[in-house]
Amino acid sequence: MASWSLGKLVILTIVGSVTLELLYYTWNYFKRNHRHKHGKTKPKQQQKNIFHNVLFFPDQHIACKEHFNSSDGCLRSGCKYAHSETSLTHMLSYLRSARKTLDLCVFVITCHELSDTVIALHERGVTVRVITDDEQVDITGSKIGAFRAAGIQVRQDRSSYLMHHKFALIDEDVLINGSFNWTRQAVTGNNENLLITNSRDIVQPYIEEFERLWEQFDPRNYKCLPHTNSDQIHQAIS
Ligand SMILES: [Zn+2]
Repeated sequence: MASWSLGKLVILTIVGSVTLELLYYTWNYFKRNHRHKHGKTKPKQQQKNIFHNVLFFPDQHIACKEHFNSSDGCLRSGCKYAHSETSLTHMLSYLRSARKTLDLCVFVITCHELSDTVIALHERGVTVRVITDDEQVDITGSKIGAFRAAGIQVRQDRSSYLMHHKFALIDEDVLINGSFNWTRQAVTGNNENLLITNSRDIVQPYIEEFERLWEQFDPRNYKCLPHTNSDQIHQAIS
């Protein structure tokens, strides 16, 4: 009788364990299905307050400084400048929103409305870094000299290839990117586009690209660059 009871107890224990195990897996199976159906399994945190904006150029006219900046407005009759917002004024507004950092990676910059804004941000305490193309630094109207004179950090490539990017990062939060060269001709002459976004999925790779180039174009790392003009000259001489 005692051995029968012991055997029964062992069987009951095994059956009980298996039943509990089955119940556990069944519960988890239905829980996973329920989450999946109701979209509760998010692969990552969704970004809130994403915005995108698009600007097209050319502007018909440059914005009137008196109209936008003077308390009396523009008093000129027949003023030839724009008295309404333009793509450039929108672009400048985004740049002026910088509070901590402004990283520029631009092939060329000759537009003084843009360079004046960049220098004003630097003077306001925003950390400005500029990457540009070495062959555009000394062209007529280039503002790179003015940046350096103002104390803005500028780095340039040292290659026969072009540093052809045209993007800006505001506070590492907002990206301005497109075909737009930072020149007057792009503002009022060319068909150009700019996309402005704070989408993290898009902004983050641009931050990484900027940091990569900033490091690559550090003068201390010039020797690591392949096939630069001066390397070729040096090889020819030696
Ligand atoms: Zn005016």
